[in-house]
Amino acid sequence: MVNKSGGVLVYAECKRRKLNRITLELLSAGRYLAGKLNSEVSAVLIGYKVRELAKELICYGADRAYVVDHQSFRYYVPLTYAKVIADLIISSEPEIVLFPADSIGRDLAPRVAAKLNTGLTADCIELDIGDYEDPISGRHYEKLLYQVRPAFSGDIIATIVVPERRPQMATVRPGSFDPLPRDLGREGEIVAIPVNLGGEGGVMEVIKVVEEESSTDLRDAKIIVSGGRGVGGPYGFKLLRELAKELGAKLGASRAAVEAGWISYSHQVGLTGQIVKPKIYIACGISGAIQHIVGIREAGVIIAINRDPDAPIFDYADYGIVGDLFEVIPALISKIKEVKCNK
Ligand SMILES: Cc1cc2nc3c(=O)[nH]c(=O)nc-3n(C[C@H](O)[C@H](O)[C@H](O)COP(=O)(O)OP(=O)(O)OC[C@H]3O[C@@H](n4cnc5c(N)ncnc54)[C@H](O)[C@@H]3O)c2cc1C
Repeated sequence: MVNKSGGVLVYAECKRRKLNRITLELLSAGRYLAGKLNSEVSAVLIGYKVRELAKELICYGADRAYVVDHQSFRYYVPLTYAKVIADLIISSEPEIVLFPADSIGRDLAPRVAAKLNTGLTADCIELDIGDYEDPISGRHYEKLLYQVRPAFSGDIIATIVVPERRPQMATVRPGSFDPLPRDLGREGEIVAIPVNLGGEGGVMEVIKVVEEESSTDLRDAKIIVSGGRGVGGPYGFKLLRELAKELGAKLGASRAAVEAGWISYSHQVGLTGQIVKPKIYIACGISGAIQHIVGIREAGVIIAINRDPDAPIFDYADYGIVGDLFEVIPALISKIKEVKCNK
């Protein structure tokens, strides 16, 4: 029998009448956790003209979709969104609430946690359910949310639990879970939530929204060619772009290359960039700092090109090429071209 109280609540996001990929990832995480708790997954979607997406939430894993559809929610407004979610949590009492670790989730989740006087673990890369014994009180807690995230600048991976406060709340890094396949046969409940903004309504008004140019989403890339400080400048990335083009790959970068201004942040891979899972990851002139490795742990095959044979990247690489990337990459490109020509 499924336990209806408690359960997992996912904050759902959409853009241009489509659920964001991170929402699908959170629903997948929610299903995994709810399975362990013998409980249910709910999702809350707030916006304007978003009602039709409720069924999609169910297709991707929700048992229940709460929809708050009103023109005052056309744009994200922190105060009103936080109030609606906090009210819903108070009335539905989920055990666990998940938010995306994106710009909105990072703003919204702490506001909701503060309203509910509970804890929040930011930037989780793994979630699980397990027991915990408090070493001081000796008290035993069952079925807590294990919130796994890099700590101390990524030098350690910490598992954080919240034994007493409820709900247990976390933001989850995009790319940490794979979405479930869309199942049109899934059934669930759709609940329209009436809008009650109370004193929070009208305090803030969005006057204009200026959208950033489309960013680079590396999470679906099958092959990524990534460059670090070793590429030496924008001209080095020109060479990497050529290799990426030949391989049908996307371009990634280390933080050092991004901070040097050689490539935009949307290409950054790692702790403070994107978590990627390509079949092949080619690291060129990247030393292999732990904060970079955190982002590529689930890559299929890692190929490293580095002129320093002692570079830490070789500890993680499946194939390592010790050499100057300005010699190795042109040789690779001409070999790929030759193979393509002979096909
Ligand atoms: C809180 C925090 C968050 C961070 N988040 C991230 C993150 O998300 N992503 C990230 O990448 N980093 C992150 N960092 C930074 C990280 O610690 C490293 O500083 C960074 O990854 C180093 O980048 P790099 O490997 O390109 O540069 P370096 O460490 O300088 O390595 C350059 C490498 O290039 C090689 N090289 C040089 N010339 C050539 C050549 N011609 N041919 C071949 N090889 C060559 C060198 O041997 C060297 O190994 C973070 C740090 C902190 C503290």
